[in-house]
Amino acid sequence: MIPPIANNFVAGETPTEALSHIEEINDDDVAGILNLLGEHYEDPADAEGDTDEYVRLARMIDSRDVNACISVKPSQLGIDISADVFESNLERIINAADCFVWIDMEDHTTTDTTLDAYERFAHETDGNVGVCIQANLKRTGDDLKRLADLPGKVRLVKGAYDEPAEIAHKDKETVDAVYRDLLEYMFQEFEGGIGVGSHDPAMIAHARELHDEYETDYEVQMLMGVRESAQVDLSKEDISVYQYIPYGSKWFSYFYRRVRERKENILFAARAVISS
Ligand code: FAD
Repeated sequence: MIPPIANNFVAGETPTEALSHIEEINDDDVAGILNLLGEHYEDPADAEGDTDEYVRLARMIDSRDVNACISVKPSQLGIDISADVFESNLERIINAADCFVWIDMEDHTTTDTTLDAYERFAHETDGNVGVCIQANLKRTGDDLKRLADLPGKVRLVKGAYDEPAEIAHKDKETVDAVYRDLLEYMFQEFEGGIGVGSHDPAMIAHARELHDEYETDYEVQMLMGVRESAQVDLSKEDISVYQYIPYGSKWFSYFYRRVRERKENILFAARAVISS
């Protein structure tokens, strides 16, 4: 069982617990993006094991009446082993799932292989897949030109990985400014959907203004345990909102990352426990 505080950020150890959480947020018109925790596998058997789990999860989502999709990490499907292992595991999940499948983006050494796989499956599924792209990488403007005409959705995030200064913007103001510009490009040029993967009220306000101007479809995506009341408020305003929901036995390192990146997370979680 996930202990108090951590269970604000992680939905449980099993898919059944995670789907129960989805049912709760669906009641508030917030949809779910499920992620089985796991990354950086070097043994093909580990990547295959998580692929099997995702196949089971996809079937559970399809057989229950829930508004949910999946997001996978390339290194959990074996991208560190080889591009072929990654692509064939991803293919197995995509073939088993009726629901939408997102591909998270990891550090810059994986970007090309991840985008190649996305391009292939965007065509093969006629847009039932999405990929994440990071505003802090200097290459992203060019990548978006390549992605603009593909079917499928693209989630724009600021970027979670500590990348070298030669290839990445390092200061927050620059990343914020680039995020705004890239979002504007996406609203102008994209026909498939846009995922605004940010908790930042300024970026969400910017997306709303861009939607008013260009009318492109978009959804706001935030993590479980972060600004949850804002998630519900946005959904009441008829904005499509997705909550990214990690679950699984490898919850500790994910929780530790959330706490380290923002001390308010632990204060917020502690307050929730005290007032419950
Ligand atoms: P920040 O720039 O961190 O903060 C801006 C403002 O947002 C803050 O001033 C505050 O007002 C608000 N805010 C931020 N966090 C909190 C909080 N905890 N509580 C209250 N208010 C807060 N990164 C990747 O590299 N690859 C991925 O595949 C990926 N997938 C993601 C999927 C989702 C759904 C989300 C939400 C993020 C994902 N990220 C991913 C992480 C992302 O790159 C950022 O590191 C992370 O979202 C922090 O940036 P931000 O835009 O949310 O806000």
